Amino acid sequence: MDEVTIQRGLSTHFKFEEFKSELQKNAVVEICQRKNDVLVSMPTGSGKSLCYQLPAVLHSDKITIVFSPLLALIKDQIDHLLALKIRAASLNSKITKPEREMIIADLKSTSPNTRLLYVTPEQAATTTFKVLYNNLHNFNKLAYLVVDEAHCVSEWGHDFRPHYLKLGELRDNCNVPCIALTATASAEVTKDIISNLRLSKDHRTFKTSCFRSNLFYDVFYPNMLEDPYKHLRNFIHECLKMKEEESLPKHKKSCGIIYCRTREQTEVLMERLNKLGIKTLCYHAGLKTHERLEFQDKWQNGDVPVICATISFGMGVDKATVRFVVHWGVPKDPASYYQESGRAGRDGKPSKCRVYYNRSDSKAVEFHLSQDLGRAGSKESRKKES
Ligand code: ADP
Ligand code: MG
Repeated sequence: MDEVTIQRGLSTHFKFEEFKSELQKNAVVEICQRKNDVLVSMPTGSGKSLCYQLPAVLHSDKITIVFSPLLALIKDQIDHLLALKIRAASLNSKITKPEREMIIADLKSTSPNTRLLYVTPEQAATTTFKVLYNNLHNFNKLAYLVVDEAHCVSEWGHDFRPHYLKLGELRDNCNVPCIALTATASAEVTKDIISNLRLSKDHRTFKTSCFRSNLFYDVFYPNMLEDPYKHLRNFIHECLKMKEEESLPKHKKSCGIIYCRTREQTEVLMERLNKLGIKTLCYHAGLKTHERLEFQDKWQNGDVPVICATISFGMGVDKATVRFVVHWGVPKDPASYYQESGRAGRDGKPSKCRVYYNRSDSKAVEFHLSQDLGRAGSKESRKKES
């Protein structure tokens, strides 16, 4: 497929006049050829979805199956595609029986209208899906197998999902190119993606450099500060360019995330900051679903600029104007820290990442790290045995 067709597709189907980056363009051009498996490793917000959606649309006689970890992410993608008049559907537990039957009937027809079919890894393990998949594969109707958030196949990643491992099985005897996408860049995770998804030896990789020149990192020791909470407040004022008497930043979109190690910490810190005049909310797995959604929403649309959260906050957070990421307590491990602090400054503007670190909480982390190493050791020895 030539570049002119691809460029035209970008504007007719997606209404973009240019690619977001050279890397996005190169990935699309390579994927469109359907010659090799492809691994795309770019930070969140850099437009990874388009890397498979445009090729999927351009191969208009075939279907692309996309494995994605969360129903919420799937819904966002489908809404977005339908708004562009691109036929996308999802098979999951939330849809009604007639909807499911309609989708399946279309997929089984001689020339299906569906271009992209989204499936969770759990759904992919069902017999219904496997029968459908074999049918599509045998009739040569598949354009691509796409694995989004591919780091979920790795125990080294932060969101390991056992069902992702099973996706590798679908690749046996499969002649359809596999496209794996992730924002996680670590070597261990990349290695696991390649081996667990059985990417071919000559797969191509499109990877952004991990270096983020607009992020500024520093570390403070709360023990040595007169009042760590005021210190944090001053930092927030500075990052959000707020004056003492203001309760919201002038730029409504400017905001920040404070990661805490425990639910209790998120609540305590939220209270402290509110008392110090910074509008703050919290986010953790102990909240009711509607509270979580409401809080995330308020932060997302700028009503409340600061959110104190556990690490459950993040997947799918798509806000380019995060001016700071604080870790209140030492982060879990370097890969998580890279991922979490990397949510700052996606718009390319200067942003700050700060850790408030006490020796006492580093003990907890050392314990977890030694457990991880133990686990990795036994994994290695299992491999050797088999
Ligand atoms: P990722 O999966 O890498 O986190 P997404 O695919 O969700 O990123 O894309 C992030 C945003 O970038 C979306 O709003 C998308 O519409 C936008 N985007 C993608 N490609 C382009 C482009 N070529 N030009 C402008 N915006 C783009
Ligand atoms: Mg994405």
